[in-house]
Order: sequence, then structure tokens, then C-alpha cells
Amino acid sequence: MTPPDEKHIPTGPHLPFAGIASFARAPIVAPDGEWSADAAVLGIPFDIALGFRPGARFAPRAIREASLRYAIPVGGFHEFRTGRPRLAGVSVVDAGDVVMPSLEPELMRDRVTAAARAVRRRTRLPLFLGGDHSVTFPLLCAFDDVPDLHVVQIDAHLDYTDVRNDTRYSNSSPFRRATESLPNLAHITVLGLRGLRIDAEALAASRARGHTLVGAWDCAPLDGVMSRLPEGKPVYISFDVDVLDPAVLPATSSPEVDGLSYGAAMALIEAVARRNHVVGMDIVELAPGLDTSGNSALLIARLAIESMAAVLDPRPDEGAAS
Ligand code: MN
Ligand code: MN
Repeated sequence: MTPPDEKHIPTGPHLPFAGIASFARAPIVAPDGEWSADAAVLGIPFDIALGFRPGARFAPRAIREASLRYAIPVGGFHEFRTGRPRLAGVSVVDAGDVVMPSLEPELMRDRVTAAARAVRRRTRLPLFLGGDHSVTFPLLCAFDDVPDLHVVQIDAHLDYTDVRNDTRYSNSSPFRRATESLPNLAHITVLGLRGLRIDAEALAASRARGHTLVGAWDCAPLDGVMSRLPEGKPVYISFDVDVLDPAVLPATSSPEVDGLSYGAAMALIEAVARRNHVVGMDIVELAPGLDTSGNSALLIARLAIESMAAVLDPRPDEGAAS
């Protein structure tokens, strides 16, 4: 028998369950390294600022693992819907995770802002993977130089509470802190609201600032919400996975019944991307341990890839506003 020839040990491509996990098998880079790419992923494995079920610190790794199923093929994905390739030639890198202190939320925020600034300088579309929703405040601080910045928050909850349980920087308050700190943050549109425990003071403060607040029941079909979306603006999208129905995505800290379908949520992201210049996006509050099937992480990996496509390679009927 001929001994195996070491020259013929293949190095890839791997099946989706094998190999070392980077986001969609993108090259791994340092946030401040020598690189440039159309899209870059940065993980923020932090979940000590939430008031209910923990686990979002495990989301960046779970999304990376699930995303191996969606490694972008050479030549792009061949879409049944349009019959054309998507994301062909789009470069993606994985900038790893922000290095977290064990506690020290203030240090966490400084590090997140610094890493997000570094990534922003090197890519057209930074995609941040939380973490609980408190990470969006330090992320938005990295966009303090964008004039007339608009935020589209897709979320079952308002997250505009001033103080909850003696805490000012929890996942209930990122947008309150952001509007206090960032003079360039012009407007917030919240899509998918339906939480039962809404904070009346936060609601009044949000309305007083003129924010656009849309209930989940008005988000689908899309026609009902189109006139309320920003248009022609630099937009940061903050996607809290609990906007999805818990039957679709159970793996989140604070699920609320009667949420959006995957298709309805993607239609919102595509509509926002079509009408605006998306400067960045985060996906937060996935707690993968709360869904032993792994389906929640798979769904979010696909949502991340399709969001990249919505911004960087929109379908012909979507048009490109950027
Ligand atoms: Mn929420
Ligand atoms: Mn939220």
C-alpha cells in the first residue's frame, strides 16, 4: 500500500461544521490593523448590563459558528428570488471581539468606542455583534462625527429609560444616554414596539424629542410603515433580536409575544437601506444558550449576511441610495 502523500492534504473548503470559525470564513484582522474591506464584523461579548436573562456575551461566537453555513461562495450566492448572484466580489473581514474586562462597564464602553472607531475607518459597513443592548451607546459614540445622524432601532422595547434599578447604562437606556451625549444624533425611529412593561417617563421623553415610534402591528405589511422611515439620511441600524416573534427566535433575554417574522424584519432593513446611507449596524440581545436547537443563531447569521447584501449589493428592484 502506498503511504499517504502529505502534499495532498487538502486545506479547504470545509463543510459548515468544520474548521476554525471566523464570520462567514472571512479573514481575521485586528480592529486597527492594515486592512480595508467592504464589510467588517466586530464582536462585543458583554452582557452584564441586562435586567433579565443573561447569555448575550456568547452571541458573537455563536453567530460566527452558525455563519459558517453562509460563507460567501466565489461568485456570490445564487439567489432563487432574482436569479442573479449576490455579494459577488464583496470583501468581508472579521475584526474579532473587543477585549472585555470582567466587570468595569466604563472601561468596556471606552474599549468598544475605540475599537468601533478603528473598524469604521477601514470599512464601508461595520457590523457589530453584541452583546446586550447597552453596547449600542458606546458604539454610537464612535459615530459622533457623522452630521445629522439618524438611528433606526428595530426592537420590541423603547430602551429610552433614564434610570432603572439605580443603573444608568443598562440595556434599557442606551438611546437615552446617546441622545444626551451626542449632539449630532438628530433622530431616532423605533420599529416593532410592543413590550408590556413600557416606561411611561421614557415614552414621554422620547415623544418630546420627536422620535418616530411604530408598533409591531404597524410594521407589516411594509406599506404601512414606509412613510415613517427616514429618507436620504446617514442611518445607523440597531437591531435587537427580540423584535422577532419568540416562536421564530426564542433565544433572547426579554422576549415579547406577537413579534415580527423574519421576512418582515428583513423587509424593514432592506427598506431602510434602500432609502438611506447606512453607516453602521449592530445586532444585539441574542442569547444563544436559551435556544438549544441553535436555530436562533442560524437565523441571525443569515440576517447578518442578508443585511450586508441589503446595504452593499441591493437587489435591482431595491436600488441603492448610497
Ligand atoms: Mn428589546
Ligand atoms: Mn433593546
